[in-house]
Amino acid sequence: MAEAGAPGSTPRRPMHHRRNFTGLTIKELDAERAKWPKETFELWERLSKKEANDVETIQKSIVRHVTTTLARAAFNLDNFSAYQAVALSTRDRLISRWNETQGQMSRADPKRIYYLSLEFLLGRSMDNALLNMGLKETYGKSIRQLGFNMEDVIESEVDAALGNGGLGRLAACYMDSLATLDYPAWGYGLRYNYGIFQQRIIDGYQTEYPDYWLNFDNPWELPRLDISITVGFGGHVQTTQDEYGQTRHNWVPGTNVQAVAYDVPVPGYDTENCNNIRLWRSKPTKVFDLTSFNEGNYEKSVEDATNAEKITSVLYPNDNTMAGKELRLKQQYFWTAASLHDILRRFKKSMREWSDFPDQVAIQLNDTHPTLAIVELQRLLVDQEMLSWDDAWDIVTKTFAFTNHTVLPEAMEKWSVPMFEYLLPRHLQIIFDINLFFLQKVEKMFPNDRGLLNRMSIIEEAQPQQIRMAHLAVVGSHKVNGVAALHSNLIKTTIFHDFVTYYGEDKFVNKTNGITPRRWLHQANPQLSALISQTLGGDKWLKDLSLLKGLNDKTEDAVFRQRWAEIKRANKVRLAELIKTRCDVEVSPDALFDVQVKRIHEYKRQFMNILYVIHRYRTIKSMSAAQKASVQPRVVIFGGKAAPGYYIAKLVIKLINSVAKVVNQDPAVGDLLKVVFVPDYNVSVAEVIVPASDISQHISTAGTEASGTSNMKFVLNGGIIIGTLDGANIEILEEIGEENIFIFGCMAHEVEDLRHAQRYRGVPMDPALQGVISAIERGTFEDPKIFQPLISTLTVGKDFYLISADFASYIAANQQVDAAYKKQADWIKKSIRCTANMGKFSSDRSVKEYADEIWNVKPVSVVDEGYMAK
Ligand SMILES: *Cc1c(COP(=O)(O)O)cnc(C)c1O
Repeated sequence: MAEAGAPGSTPRRPMHHRRNFTGLTIKELDAERAKWPKETFELWERLSKKEANDVETIQKSIVRHVTTTLARAAFNLDNFSAYQAVALSTRDRLISRWNETQGQMSRADPKRIYYLSLEFLLGRSMDNALLNMGLKETYGKSIRQLGFNMEDVIESEVDAALGNGGLGRLAACYMDSLATLDYPAWGYGLRYNYGIFQQRIIDGYQTEYPDYWLNFDNPWELPRLDISITVGFGGHVQTTQDEYGQTRHNWVPGTNVQAVAYDVPVPGYDTENCNNIRLWRSKPTKVFDLTSFNEGNYEKSVEDATNAEKITSVLYPNDNTMAGKELRLKQQYFWTAASLHDILRRFKKSMREWSDFPDQVAIQLNDTHPTLAIVELQRLLVDQEMLSWDDAWDIVTKTFAFTNHTVLPEAMEKWSVPMFEYLLPRHLQIIFDINLFFLQKVEKMFPNDRGLLNRMSIIEEAQPQQIRMAHLAVVGSHKVNGVAALHSNLIKTTIFHDFVTYYGEDKFVNKTNGITPRRWLHQANPQLSALISQTLGGDKWLKDLSLLKGLNDKTEDAVFRQRWAEIKRANKVRLAELIKTRCDVEVSPDALFDVQVKRIHEYKRQFMNILYVIHRYRTIKSMSAAQKASVQPRVVIFGGKAAPGYYIAKLVIKLINSVAKVVNQDPAVGDLLKVVFVPDYNVSVAEVIVPASDISQHISTAGTEASGTSNMKFVLNGGIIIGTLDGANIEILEEIGEENIFIFGCMAHEVEDLRHAQRYRGVPMDPALQGVISAIERGTFEDPKIFQPLISTLTVGKDFYLISADFASYIAANQQVDAAYKKQADWIKKSIRCTANMGKFSSDRSVKEYADEIWNVKPVSVVDEGYMAK
């Protein structure tokens, strides 16, 4: 990247560039370099050598940041300040790698991957950066000698929570894998001032608090105030004739805002390569609109500035539901326009033909959120670069690929045409043209099928008309993928069925999700990671997860099993401490830890889980003392946020907390059953919970969970799944074997018939479930009136998510879990086999598949050359 590695620029302070090299080609840069006097060049070269990574140099850099950057003294240093200093020292090393990588990439100019995602759920950065750069031990030692403890320092960091759940965390895992595998890849997203809200539980209810994560500065980003792009909104379209008699369109926006770049370095594991996530922040074009100001309308000019800042103010807290808000559409355009401008600027530096664009650029759309990039690229190529419509469209469709994440109808993005026209009049024209030319081709292939054209149209003929973003994404991309085998097949027979008929099968592929083993095993479960490395004779498995298969040989080794069990127990002790601190409930680490942590959603069926807990509670209450002696003690752990406007999901949280209050205080139950709701579930909390589960629940109604990724995290850590045949559970079962997973419930192909029966044949409720509902209605857990709307989803709502249909098999599966847990030696064998056979679910495997089969991009390795070298 020329703007970073250019001579005359200091890498840390882009504001003070001697000159602005942003627009220069490599040739021009080399010419500038040649102009330098030899002595000047050599001086720079000598002084810009990387800092060494020995304990003393690291300690010096930490102390320097304490005394100068932070202006503090050692004797009044708290853990947070120590964290800041260590973070700044780590950041220096990250930036060196980042600079070197970007410089070398500019020179090599390979085909690049651009991953467009509205969410990057990164969590904490320090631990991960130190582990990936191989500096954790040295830093640990350095900090210890300076009087601090690494764990405490790590705990002082706040999460970067710029995402809702699985989709945002997937983007973060993919960025880790892309960097680790040396792919030239950039992520593009938004720098929200407020990440996902913080959740507190008050009187059993979720309450939301703003997550102002930037309060204490963010050392993991590099503000690049020199990179600022103008993005327009509104206005009108001028139509003119050019000298060849061609109609030309020129969009004249009514207002402009600035997009300023903030770069987040992403270091790979065990490589010099350091990729980038560029996050855009919105700023007013000029601080004050001078016209308004001069007219004495000071308030209006301030208001305009505030409106510009608002665009990247807040992350929408909806997971798998569409809000339809104007500000959200503004976010989407702001982000895609700035990102494309940046991508085009980089492409133009290489002075290639436009037809080479798809050989240099692959853009992946993480869900439909960035679909406007398709329209924006077509607009830039036709209106500004003067390409013909067909040449432009050929480039566009070869460049983009689209990942679908859901088939839930409430999640499908649609934008009302009138609102869209007001914000983006030229883009609307282009969408109508894309649609017309597309439908004309469909008509040619399937003449006179008006139903087909209606179903496939990008425009839905509703009142008002709606733009179907998923259709636009399919039409504008060369590949469409689902995120697990079942889901990829499902989209071909449901939402994209007609498109498969038209385009053929080859356009629709599967890319099963994955997770990074660096964060989700090595970092989150250091003891297990060490045991695995010790057993396999090294840490190669962290870059080739299939090597875990070597653990299969160890299941009969009693000493190894003992060690495996000790580590699980230690992780459970750590989680029990977190539960004591956050929920004020004492739980025994000897009980079975049963976990369901994920966004709260009806399709994920936390409701079914708590209904079963009530069933279990009632069963225990009905037992004699002798019977109770044989009950397997359980701690049922819930966590997850509900969208603030999702009333039913919030009631589920209330029910869980009401049940917890009664159960945890009941002396007739004691340690046989405990229920906790861990507030504010996020990546850092997940890193404590995941390694500590015996059983985790992935119990969505079959066909509703596209993949799931927390299922992979748990099993990789030797946790066993109780789950349905949904999403990636199916492929996990295939890998680990059916004896190592507890499967229950109906299958995806049975769902429609079951729903039909519920609706029209009045199937009676499962008797055990009926008993549970009656207990709630009798007021066993607070005022039953509170929970009536929840119960109504089963009755009036005809139990859309099939809780009653699956309840009996769910009870049976839970009984099998209890029985299996009693045979501890066998249980530990299952646990080992789980970890051993999870190689497929590394995000390294996912990313390689994308690179080979969708992007056609090869890795480019970065060598350690020193900052100034050519
Ligand atoms: C992995 C992860 C998720 C996704 O969980 P699912 O069970 O796959 O929905 C959500 N939130 C956080 C914080 C995660 O780490």
